[in-house]
Amino acid sequence: MTADFLIVGQGVAGSILAWTLDQRGCSVILVNDPARPSASAVAAGIVNPLTGRKLVRTWKADELFPFLHQFYRHIEQTLNVRFFHPKTIYRPFRSMAEKTAYESLTDNPAIQPYIANAVNHALYDQFINNPFGGLEVTQAGWLDVNEFIRIIKGYFIQKNQYADISVKINELVFSDGKVEWQGISAKKVIFCDGAQLGENSLFNWLPYNPVKGEIITAVVPDYAITSIVNQGLFILPIRDGLVKIGATYSWHDIDWKTTGEGRTFLETKVRDILKVPFEIVAQQAGIRPSTKDRRPFIGLHPARATAGVFGGMGTKGVSLAPYLAEQFSRHLLDGEDLEPEANISRYDSLLLHDLDEPA
Ligand SMILES: Cc1cc2nc3c(=O)[nH]c(=O)nc-3n(C[C@H](O)[C@H](O)[C@H](O)COP(=O)(O)OP(=O)(O)OC[C@H]3O[C@@H](n4cnc5c(N)ncnc54)[C@H](O)[C@@H]3O)c2cc1C
Repeated sequence: MTADFLIVGQGVAGSILAWTLDQRGCSVILVNDPARPSASAVAAGIVNPLTGRKLVRTWKADELFPFLHQFYRHIEQTLNVRFFHPKTIYRPFRSMAEKTAYESLTDNPAIQPYIANAVNHALYDQFINNPFGGLEVTQAGWLDVNEFIRIIKGYFIQKNQYADISVKINELVFSDGKVEWQGISAKKVIFCDGAQLGENSLFNWLPYNPVKGEIITAVVPDYAITSIVNQGLFILPIRDGLVKIGATYSWHDIDWKTTGEGRTFLETKVRDILKVPFEIVAQQAGIRPSTKDRRPFIGLHPARATAGVFGGMGTKGVSLAPYLAEQFSRHLLDGEDLEPEANISRYDSLLLHDLDEPA
């Protein structure tokens, strides 16, 4: 069997790159090891153009946000499915000082397009502590990540281009400008293996900074708020009376296990925001594939151009991957330059390996 691309890993990154290349007319084989954990399976899937305490505009927000809305809508329309939910994000002010500071930001032309003009605070009063009011961030929303991955997997299964299997690097045979693996001959293999890229001998020289995160799911009876609420942590309504609350950030004890500490942190913090009782019904943990310079890892291996990487999406895979997959596909297929801040060529000097037979 021959293919243009063998894509290893089907989280958000692999799903989006596979779809993008498929839409460009390439043949793609998508493989994923179901025995390995995935950050995407845990992610809340929120897209938020203004983040952090200081309402900082996400890197490349003006390009990413129009693109991602159109990207997810296009797949929904093509396959007649639903997994992307545009929503506003309500940010209750913590104090009068914060209200003044945030309101002065609304005059900033870089921020203004992402802030709603009028907010009906009364809508929130019954459930949310908002004595100083709040603002609403627009162009936001959430991707039902598990549903999205299930749909993309089904699409490639139907085309007979999907397998649930682990790829071991030493099984890949690189020769004559192609890569062979398990009877498949591909022009390129692209790794979308998330935080597990750190164990991938072809790309483990890239400077990772994995960040553990935990999230809880809670029942909040009669919760009537449809927006995402965010004040240090988020409350995301996913179904009637069911919300996701997150997330924690930890740079130590990096594993996929939930902790009592994580649960207590989220439970305590959310009590400052939610006025009503809630019951925790689930808790999950994952490892975000973050990088030292907080920019993605995209590009072809400097000494082995038949192998590439599409990862390092950190805390924002759902926002970053659509636009960057488009950029990567233009690089791979049309020879266009990659976004320099995301291109792994910025780290070429770190590559200490000597590969035997560069292809
Ligand atoms: C608690 C938490 C909350 C988050 N919330 C958000 C959010 O609201 N919005 C947002 O944008 N991001 C969020 N993130 C970050 C998000 O999870 C990541 O940006 C994104 O999921 C990364 O996707 P990925 O495809 O690169 O990696 P992953 O989702 O980890 O996927 C990698 C895949 O590769 C497979 N794999 C690995 N090695 C192999 C191999 N050798 N062979 C075959 N398959 C292999 C694994 O099985 C896995 O399925 C959150 C993360 C956490 C932990």
